[in-house]
Amino acid sequence: MLRRTKIVATLGPASADPKVIDSMVETGVDVVRLNFSHGTPEEHIQRADTVRSAARARGRTVGVLVDLQGPKIRIGKFREGKIHLNNGDPFILDSRCGQGTQERVGLDYKGLPGDVGRGATLLLDDGRIVLWVEKVEGEEIFCKVVQGGVLSDNKGINRQGGGLSAAALTEKDIEDIATAAQLKADYLAVSFPRSGADMRQARELLRAAGGKGMLVAKIERAEAVDALEEILEASDAIMVARGDLGVEVGDAAVPALQKRMIRMARERNKLVITATQMMESMIYNPIPTRAEVSDVANAVIDGTDAVMLSAETAAGAYPVESIAAMHRVCVEAEKEDEPLLGQYRMGKVFSRVDESIAMAAIFTANHLNVRAIAALTESGSTCLWMSRMQSGVPIYALTPEVETRRKVTLFRGVYPVNFKTASTDREQLLIEAENELRRRGAVRDGDLIVLTIGEPIGQSGGTNTLKIVRVGAHAGP
Ligand code: PGA
Ligand code: MN
Repeated sequence: MLRRTKIVATLGPASADPKVIDSMVETGVDVVRLNFSHGTPEEHIQRADTVRSAARARGRTVGVLVDLQGPKIRIGKFREGKIHLNNGDPFILDSRCGQGTQERVGLDYKGLPGDVGRGATLLLDDGRIVLWVEKVEGEEIFCKVVQGGVLSDNKGINRQGGGLSAAALTEKDIEDIATAAQLKADYLAVSFPRSGADMRQARELLRAAGGKGMLVAKIERAEAVDALEEILEASDAIMVARGDLGVEVGDAAVPALQKRMIRMARERNKLVITATQMMESMIYNPIPTRAEVSDVANAVIDGTDAVMLSAETAAGAYPVESIAAMHRVCVEAEKEDEPLLGQYRMGKVFSRVDESIAMAAIFTANHLNVRAIAALTESGSTCLWMSRMQSGVPIYALTPEVETRRKVTLFRGVYPVNFKTASTDREQLLIEAENELRRRGAVRDGDLIVLTIGEPIGQSGGTNTLKIVRVGAHAGP
């Protein structure tokens, strides 16, 4: 059973073993995420290699997403590794502090005292610890503990409501962008962008380093929600980064934001990944909770391109089972993915010929009993437009370009097919495309296929032709 929604899985210690990576590929992971908050460039380059060779051995294509650490603000270390804070305790954050104690701890962001003042609420460790700022004096932020608990080394800090001024790209991120280019990342995710300018800067740095990957904006700051329109404009994809976002805007605001972001991304021909805590309990358990199953299914029904696993596959006890569970839940939820025979985009005027052909193809496939769409494509953009429309018809991206095959791994309902031909005769080319789909078991004699192609053949240029054929209807081999 083909799954339309794509699965992104984060690699980490739990998935370092090539055997585990091979099982993940076999179980259907579409994109792996290399989390640059941990590990060395060499480790990430090695992991990308392992994944690509496992995929090659199984005849699959798996995309690689590099996720930059970004300006995540963290406290320093404690002399004892951790402390216990009680409600009402005083506590000081001080970037000059070395070993932390019960009274104070260090910070890796010198700008924090300038960004906060009396009355600000700081959330540590994903909101488990809540501090209220009483006053700021020089480098010291004097707080009162509102919600205490155990606080251990290097936990993250967010400010409720946002408003921290740290730049999106740190020195480390800029170096890591060069690594992303070197390992030929298909996707580069920018953490904590505030604006379209942050995304344009990341794109320029990646291109200057020779990287061709698509840019993903992680929406995880309160400001990014307000700047969503310009961030979308400057990006190829967004990630609904529910972990940090939930801390900054409040957990209860996230479900509605998720729906809005998915809708806005699709309407603007952008991709969207729904991320964080999707199968969280599977870090310890071989099966998900009912609530997690519903969460993944609802993201599918919202129209997300991909669902993402974080600690489940990076550090959990059941990395392969987590992917299998997601697969099962997505496939079932997609049964609701009826083609939309409504008015969606019917009132839209297209300015591009290739986009019009893509729309006509998906419209035809949805209204006629078509088994498959075959898009003969160089860049994959035809497939992107098609996959922005709801449909139950699989879209095969037939392309000789390995980079294009890798990038479509994130597109909902699009499947990469390695297709090379020396033929410049249109009839011959279409017969070869049809044979390729038949060979893969995607179509059988008598099925209808919608094909899109750019003419004249052999010259690069936009898709301008749509053809509907019945499989086996010609005299071909
Ligand atoms: P992270 O981003 O896992 O890198 O923190 C995702 C999120 O915040 O949800
Ligand atoms: Mn985050």
